[in-house]
Amino acid sequence: MAEGKKAPVKKGWLGWYFNFNLLYRILIGLVLGALLGIIFQEKILWISPLGDLFVRLLKMIMMPIILSTLIVGASSISPATLGKAGVRIVIFYLVTSALAVVIGLLMGSIFRPSAAMETLAIADAAGKAAASQKLSAILLAIIPTSFAQAVVNETILPVIFFSIVFGIGLSYLRISGDERLKKAGETLFEMCDAVAEVMMRMVTGIMQYAPIGVLALVADVFAKQGAKVAGALGMVTVACFVGYALHVVLVYGGMLKVFKLKIKTFFNEAKDPFITAFVTRSSNGTLPVTMEAAEHLGIPRDIYAFSLPLGATINMDGTAIYQGVCAIFISLTVTGHNFTLAQMLLIIVTATLASIGTAGVPGAGAIMLLMVLESVGLPVQAGTAVAGAYAMILGIDAILDMGRTALNVTGDLTCTAVVSKQLNYLDLKKWE
Ligand code: ASP
Repeated sequence: MAEGKKAPVKKGWLGWYFNFNLLYRILIGLVLGALLGIIFQEKILWISPLGDLFVRLLKMIMMPIILSTLIVGASSISPATLGKAGVRIVIFYLVTSALAVVIGLLMGSIFRPSAAMETLAIADAAGKAAASQKLSAILLAIIPTSFAQAVVNETILPVIFFSIVFGIGLSYLRISGDERLKKAGETLFEMCDAVAEVMMRMVTGIMQYAPIGVLALVADVFAKQGAKVAGALGMVTVACFVGYALHVVLVYGGMLKVFKLKIKTFFNEAKDPFITAFVTRSSNGTLPVTMEAAEHLGIPRDIYAFSLPLGATINMDGTAIYQGVCAIFISLTVTGHNFTLAQMLLIIVTATLASIGTAGVPGAGAIMLLMVLESVGLPVQAGTAVAGAYAMILGIDAILDMGRTALNVTGDLTCTAVVSKQLNYLDLKKWE
């Protein structure tokens, strides 16, 4: 957050709140929320609407910010450059996701979480049918049959597709020989630019509310699920969070180092989207904050406007780690054995590809897990032991989701920064 660098000193009875460093305020909210949730459990649930308020504020600006920044971005960059950056970003996204599944499988194999069969609560998972989709259907769905519907349903890939095509069209208008068209193109471009700027200001304002939203969201999760993170599920949680931490240090730290980007500067800016994703459990919902961080890191708008919404949808490293750990948990619980190497390879491919068709919303990873389990012959069917083990995971899903979503957005930002650096687009003054 830019706070501290440019925030003016606020006066009035709430001055103490606004003048206190935002990060500390958010962290205090986080710890207080966890404590309140654990101590008061369901008695604290009256606080939940304050958390929903934060999520709603972010979601309110999600579509306008994606649309305006993407149209500005696509109409300012040449299609060739967009293609070059796009291909690199997608490669980075896929490779980091595959590495994440490997880390997840490793963590699962080291910690070997499993549960005694009697503790299985089979009923819960009965309603979830494996929602695997054909690859051709996933790819075709990128092209919207109705733009309005894509916006209303918040399906990001079709919105990205439309905005890029629209932006490219606009770029031709801006260089048109016809004065009338050129002027119209410039006016529309300036309007979109202004909308994007206003959205950025709105994010800065909304983040002032973040500490209270964070407190309420965390209290809600811990009140409902805190007590369940005991026993076998505690091991799943530990394995996932150690995996998340390792991925940050090894993969992101390694990438930043290789591309000579200061780790401290990166995490200084990445902390806001990290925490926001942690509590909202949605990469999509966090997009406005991730974009603001990209802006502070000197990543050009033409690049991040495209790569971050794309990443929110197709790049889910935290979710991939979770897939690895949970698949092993379910296999050990149900069959007593870990996967063979061939099955692990299948999991790596399925988990990497499954993320492409899944939106960055809370709980998305749990749906992807169905596809992964199906691929290794452990389909979740009502009344089976697999369904029971899966239901146990669902019981603590919100807690696992917090960590994996935080990692997901950090991954999007890391890949975007690295590709911008590689293509010499990064404003290096912001990293000094
Ligand atoms: N929260 C998501 C998950 O369930 C994904 C995301 O929003 O990035 O893994």
